[in-house]
Amino acid sequence: MTGGAIRLLQLAKSFDGVPAVTGIDLDIPGGQFYSLLGASGCGKTTTLRMIAGFEKPDSGRIELDGHDVAGDPPHKRPVNTVFQTYALFPFMSVWDNVAFGLRYQKTSREETRRRVGEALDLVRMTDFAKRRPAQLSGGQQQRVALARALVLRPRVLLLDEPLGALDAKLRKQLQLELRAVQREVEITFVYVTHDQEEALTMSDRIAVMANGRVEQVGSPTEIYSAPATTYVAGFLGAANIFDADVVESADGSAICSAVSTRLRAATHDTARCPPGPAAIVIRPERISLQSVDEPVSAGHNAIAGTVGEVVYLGASTQVHVDVGADHAMVVEIPNHSGPQSVPHQPGSRVHCVCTPDAVRVLTRSPVAVVSDHTTDAVEPQNALAPG
Ligand code: ATP
Repeated sequence: MTGGAIRLLQLAKSFDGVPAVTGIDLDIPGGQFYSLLGASGCGKTTTLRMIAGFEKPDSGRIELDGHDVAGDPPHKRPVNTVFQTYALFPFMSVWDNVAFGLRYQKTSREETRRRVGEALDLVRMTDFAKRRPAQLSGGQQQRVALARALVLRPRVLLLDEPLGALDAKLRKQLQLELRAVQREVEITFVYVTHDQEEALTMSDRIAVMANGRVEQVGSPTEIYSAPATTYVAGFLGAANIFDADVVESADGSAICSAVSTRLRAATHDTARCPPGPAAIVIRPERISLQSVDEPVSAGHNAIAGTVGEVVYLGASTQVHVDVGADHAMVVEIPNHSGPQSVPHQPGSRVHCVCTPDAVRVLTRSPVAVVSDHTTDAVEPQNALAPG
């Protein structure tokens, strides 16, 4: 089934004069698993509620398969929503909960039986059809809520942190199940989450939002490995972000000066990377450590520093290297050779070595990162402080 393409044009909404969504443009292709990712309060839910019709935009357009639906009430839109709270009817069986919308639409008894059966199969809840919601686990209740939404065959399914109430292990399992269901039904899923790992695991595309704006749209690999702004780099995973000066840039690559070193780097967008002040990010896992007397491979970057803390994390070892900036360079070394994989001791002089494409030039974002997802993410505001 095709369709379910959404286009948001200059969509804006304020509450009591305070902007929640500030004129966003988004193109959500039909049939994709599309995530809106951002910290609490960045406007994700407001955007979703405007698509659903629960919230009226102040201005802008919402097009669904080319038709402006901004004036349509929620029940006239080919859209359904799954919330964090399952909102199942407590006195109805699982079967009756899923059948409810079809009965309301006066669907024939035979078709209702077939479609409810298919929907319960899809979410692996057939064996629980006779139970009441209170006799189910949280994960099972959310599967029923998903079946109840899908049975109506919406062109778009909106999901607002649907796994937020579940424990971490179950959430990981349901992430994969939800992804598999979306692939099977091929309808557009718009998924709101503040969990970067969840968005990376499930999405075809991610729109990273901050302060009511869209900071960057891209595939999970693009967003993670080629972030455009300091906010995106800091929000998605651990990041070494430093002040930089771009010396020259052309065709997606740049020469810049950062941490007292001349570095070859890659840029997201050469047009947005003019010579002058900027920032860079290097992911901890893209760096290797060498003693300063080892030769550095041609074309590689080498940043000199002194080993500080060495933290054994089981699968990897994290090494903090003082590179003369106001915060350390964090390097993550996989423990391929067991606990002794990192031969460098605190106090040793080393080179942090990486390829040019591991160094990304960033546009400075005015928004500070709320780094609640990782202990070692760098606060861009701190990272960019002069010093
Ligand atoms: P969360 O992940 O915490 O749900 P979010 O990114 O989904 O956050 P929104 O719920 O869209 O953010 O809220 C965006 C901003 O709008 C917030 O500052 C919020 O306080 C405000 N807001 C949302 N709904 C209302 C409302 N009904 N009345 C007043 N302010 C609101």
